[in-house]
Amino acid sequence: MSLGSSSRTGTPQAGAAELRVDRVDCSGHGICASLLPRTVELDEWGYPVLAPGGGHDDPADVEAAVRLCPARALYLMDRG
Ligand code: SF4
Repeated sequence: MSLGSSSRTGTPQAGAAELRVDRVDCSGHGICASLLPRTVELDEWGYPVLAPGGGHDDPADVEAAVRLCPARALYLMDRG
């Protein structure tokens, strides 16, 4: 999957970056919705739908969700 000039590599801090989900990699575990109840809702099939504008949860919790996603489908993208 091409991400253009943006990158999933590196570790931007959650407060300065927007949470994204790679829908190809996501396998619908739903852990992200449990960890980030103000940012992520699950659709009827259990896949995440991110709130417009990015994270509304604590940045430390957003970073934890990225680390704990079992499919490594969550990532942070610099807003710039
Ligand atoms: S925790 Fe990861 S694999 Fe599970 S629903 Fe969220 S993004 Fe998808």
